[in-house]
Amino acid sequence: MEMFSKILIANRGEIAVRIIQTARRLGVRTVAVVSVPDRGAPFAKLADEVIEIGPGPAAESYLCGDKIIAAARATGAQAIHPGYGFLAENAEFADAVGRAGLKFIGPSPEAMRRMGGKAEAKAIAATAGVPVVPGYAGESQEARILAREAKRVGYPVMIKAVAGGGGRGMRRVEGDVDFAAALESAQREAKAAFGDDRVLLEKVIARPRHVEVQVFGDAHANVVHLFERDCSLQRRNQKVLEEAPAPGMCAQLRAKITAAAVACAKAVGYQGAGTVEFLLEGAGTLGPEMPWYFIEMNTRLQVEHPVTESITGLDLVEWQLRVAAGERLPLTQAQIAMSGHAIEARLNAEDPANDFLPSTGPIVRLRLAEGEGLRCDAGVEEGSVISPFYDSMIAKLIAHGPDRAAAIARLACGLEHTLVAGPKTNAAFLHALVTHAAFGRGEVDTGLIGRELARLAPARLAAGAVSIGVARMLKGEANARRNASGHPGDAASPWSALDAFQLGAPRRQGRTVLVDGVATKVEVAWTADGPNVSVLGEPPGASAGPPPMVTAVGDSAPVYVLSNMRQVVLDWPSYAVGAGEVGDGSAVHAPIVGRLAKVFVRQGDRVAKGDRVAVVEAMKMEHVLHAPRAGCIDKLAAREGDQVAEGALIAVLAEE
Ligand code: ADP
Ligand code: ADP
Ligand code: MG
Repeated sequence: MEMFSKILIANRGEIAVRIIQTARRLGVRTVAVVSVPDRGAPFAKLADEVIEIGPGPAAESYLCGDKIIAAARATGAQAIHPGYGFLAENAEFADAVGRAGLKFIGPSPEAMRRMGGKAEAKAIAATAGVPVVPGYAGESQEARILAREAKRVGYPVMIKAVAGGGGRGMRRVEGDVDFAAALESAQREAKAAFGDDRVLLEKVIARPRHVEVQVFGDAHANVVHLFERDCSLQRRNQKVLEEAPAPGMCAQLRAKITAAAVACAKAVGYQGAGTVEFLLEGAGTLGPEMPWYFIEMNTRLQVEHPVTESITGLDLVEWQLRVAAGERLPLTQAQIAMSGHAIEARLNAEDPANDFLPSTGPIVRLRLAEGEGLRCDAGVEEGSVISPFYDSMIAKLIAHGPDRAAAIARLACGLEHTLVAGPKTNAAFLHALVTHAAFGRGEVDTGLIGRELARLAPARLAAGAVSIGVARMLKGEANARRNASGHPGDAASPWSALDAFQLGAPRRQGRTVLVDGVATKVEVAWTADGPNVSVLGEPPGASAGPPPMVTAVGDSAPVYVLSNMRQVVLDWPSYAVGAGEVGDGSAVHAPIVGRLAKVFVRQGDRVAKGDRVAVVEAMKMEHVLHAPRAGCIDKLAAREGDQVAEGALIAVLAEE
């Protein structure tokens, strides 16, 4: 069989870019499908052809299998690469692709179906002689029976969506009293995310390490593994850092789990790239006696596949295309070797200082690290807008080195040289994690981030950073005033014009600025060199010149100041906003633009402080809104299902 001449990519962002790059190298033409907000995105510009398939919400674009298949037929693509997420693990879609006479670049729909549900996958693994986490994976979904089974399994238990992925629909429950509420919320999240609210129960593994094995199968019954990855650094069951090989892995344990992974793949006649995930019980060295359990198989390429590529020197997307085209696996097991160590960090548009709330909006300045041993897979460029419709991952930084210490050093350095102005990112948080002593010693488990969260909080911004930003805003304001006054002045020397404006103005001036949205008082002293700004209660900074490693972006408000991988946004208060609004203590606002997935209260209901009022769903996450105080719901300003803006009023409490 021959290699495809044209493929369609049913995905977006960094993974679409990644697939196009390999296709191009192989001489395969590419078709991108885009939603309206993704018009002009880097992956769309890179593709040979672009077909627009619908508006922003994934349900109306990237999840519309029929539109995607129609686009493939219209452009003459012979195969569809689903990337990950979206339709990648949707067997009905894979079926429909086949019925349309196209090749789905992935396993057979049957293999996807059998491994897709966590319950059946566990049964298949067990039959293949692979240990699975003890629990309940039965048919019955009755709350009463599930509660009884949870007791039998023994608390703490993990409730998991059978159709789950990306950490969604998963709840850890400590005891009987919390079970019913956790079940209900897991089911609701699973229903919304996967259209399937079935759950299973598992014993909670203590101090687990997440170790997974990359497998590959072809149409000629060959299956190989490409070693393991350790993805123990997680936050809320979602991967943050991934590495290969697993630190401390001993040869015997590696032999056992890689053989188990290959057995799972063979059990379903697996073709293409897949990942078999395991939990290892108890932190520390991965000795031969350590208990290990299968948890699931992902029937697709994985987000963290670059670390495997780095240590094996192979291109997994190329392997996917070859295998889908009917070729044999390029290498036998004996020919696959690994070298050195690789670590990947997921750069997300989110705010670690505000409970990792996703951050949207335009990227006004972007610098991605490059250098020896560094790889950056990005889906954005300067000017890209982070939209609320998709997940918050914007790039992956992957460092490879001769050993783990070298990879860590390169990754830390790469993060220091990464700069994103506009949306907030987790770069500083990732840096703190990568340079954390326990991580350096390889003492990782899935609870590490949770336990160390306070210590991983980004350092305070360098003193003076705010001053630099405010000075920029003042200069911008003065320039605007000068232009408006009809005295253009000397463009090369705006301060000559400004001096005139200052005549009669007080030498010292108090101003209010918004520092990350918080009104902050500053004092401005006008000097011959321009404004010298001090934040009340902080030592003056600007006069001493810029502190090291500070970058200010923007010539007028808003100004973004970055230092130590952390950003503050400075702006003038807008007096229009807030006028006629309810005082903070009585209102519930949407923290982010998204969809109002659930409203728990009705007008007139009494709530206690901290009660759940509503859930906003945005960027693959649920954000629960709580009552700011006790009181009566006076007004509901939005309805379930509504699309809400950031800061939108959701509910108001009556005055007491
Ligand atoms: P992995 O196990 O490989 O880490 P996850 O299940 O965490 O993968 O995530 C899969 C990926 O799906 C996300 O990182 C993201 O790139 C992609 N994705 C983007 N938007 C969506 C969406 N609306 N629904 C599902 N997946 C999405
Ligand atoms: P998903 O499909 O969302 O990726 P997984 O079953 O792979 O779900 O689990 C994701 C993560 O959740 C694991 O890597 C682990 O950190 C945690 N987890 C899952 N099951 C258990 C368990 N039984 N005990 C402890 N942690 C678990
Ligand atoms: Mg998983």
